[in-house]
Amino acid sequence: MTSFSDFGLADTLNRALTDAGYETPTPIQTQAIPDLLKGRDLLGIAQTGTGKTAAFALPILQRLAPGKPAAPRRVRALILSPTRELATQIAESFKLYARYMNHMSVAVVFGGVGHRPQEDRLKRGVDILVATPGRLMDHMAAGMVSLETTEIFVLDEADQMLDMGFVQPVRRIVKTLPKARQSLFFSATMPKEIGQLAGEMLFNPVTVSVAPAATTVERVEQRVIHVETGAKRRLLLDVIVAEKPERALIFTRTKHGADRVVRQLGQDGVDAAAIHGNKSQAQREKALAAFKAGSTQILVATDIAARGIDVTGVSHVINFDLPNIPESYVHRIGRTARAGASGVAISFCADDERPYLKDIEKITRQKIPAEDRRGTIAISEKADSSERGERSFGKRPQPGSRSSNQAARNNRRPAPAPVSAEQQRRDAMPAAKARQPGAAKPSHAAHAKPGQAKPSNRPVHRDTGASEESLGRVGFLAGGRDGMKRRPAEGRGQRDGR
Ligand code: AMP
Repeated sequence: MTSFSDFGLADTLNRALTDAGYETPTPIQTQAIPDLLKGRDLLGIAQTGTGKTAAFALPILQRLAPGKPAAPRRVRALILSPTRELATQIAESFKLYARYMNHMSVAVVFGGVGHRPQEDRLKRGVDILVATPGRLMDHMAAGMVSLETTEIFVLDEADQMLDMGFVQPVRRIVKTLPKARQSLFFSATMPKEIGQLAGEMLFNPVTVSVAPAATTVERVEQRVIHVETGAKRRLLLDVIVAEKPERALIFTRTKHGADRVVRQLGQDGVDAAAIHGNKSQAQREKALAAFKAGSTQILVATDIAARGIDVTGVSHVINFDLPNIPESYVHRIGRTARAGASGVAISFCADDERPYLKDIEKITRQKIPAEDRRGTIAISEKADSSERGERSFGKRPQPGSRSSNQAARNNRRPAPAPVSAEQQRRDAMPAAKARQPGAAKPSHAAHAKPGQAKPSNRPVHRDTGASEESLGRVGFLAGGRDGMKRRPAEGRGQRDGR
């Protein structure tokens, strides 16, 4: 299959694909579309970035096209997504592909925004509804929508649903669907519980597995920098100044970590925004829109918030923290290799993150080129033990708890044990005298290992000891420091965002 025209799709769809610039189907599209057009169930092992949305959206649109529009409070095809961002993106894709079709309505419901407009929309009936589980259940409980006549059901990012604790809500939603339906199930990974859920939902499915990991990984220039936890802040500035990323996505393991990196970058004269589950929907949309438009060049994200974010032109992914789930590394660096582009991924690895690096190298079957900067950068901050074990959503799992068992099931290593600030300082002592609070910021000379003539590969202009001036000089970020805003503390949103 080399062309979309081979699928026998409606002219309206082919025209929309031409407009979108799609010429050749991606592997998942080639493998899934013919069977989906025949009405088969599908188990797709694929992640965002493989073209999986079009793989399910095109056959859904084609199959629904001849039927009658949805009756009031009814849905013809339901797509469940774990996050609001992914839900929005899926709905946008449907609208794009359906633009030349008559009477194909697409709506999206998720939490964090008012119920009323969504209720009004659902009352009229929706052909294609994209929803997060929590808010959909609210609408179902309020009698705004019923799935009893739904013909096609898609569960997207099933492993992420598990991670976010949505498996039971998903099961409850599925129970209300008619038995005679077409079901599609997508997951990037297949832990046991997800395999079980798929088994309950699917009837004689076609299995399609695309492994973008290797191809994505291969396209990205990857580096690891070994560094003390407390030196990461300065290293980040060094990297930003040296690399001058056009558009960088920085990943932290925790929500607080993301906020802290944004705050510190702001203090150091670099404008950045954070996107994670504690942000309100409006804040997340605003940050994402600014990043997409290029007015914010640095977005700091947690794994879950970043899942499904489709922004082209991300030049750099910086892993401020290494993920404790190795697959997340592949997801993260895949942000910079969209639509055939290549990019740079730089990962900071503290000593206690080395096991994660080992896991990542194991699943990606590669040895990532590494640079050892331990002892070359003064420790600029204390490790904050209260943040170190926190997950992106929810509390840190206690041993034996449901979530800790879940972490084990998901092949996730527990987050590292807290390292005291004193220990951090001691780690760095042989190289750089730990800076005392209030002491002058160290110069490059102070960063060098005493008595060691190790050549520095840092560009001479990278005087992060005087970072604001340095940043001003190199002119990073159009508009300079004057245009940079400090962000006020932002309020909490809801995880499921009902
Ligand atoms: P997805 O995995 O569905 O999130 O898709 C990732 C990106 O690839 C999106 O920006 C799609 O618009 C784009 N895309 C999907 N299929 C194709 C295709 N056949 N040709 C070009 N771009 C595509």
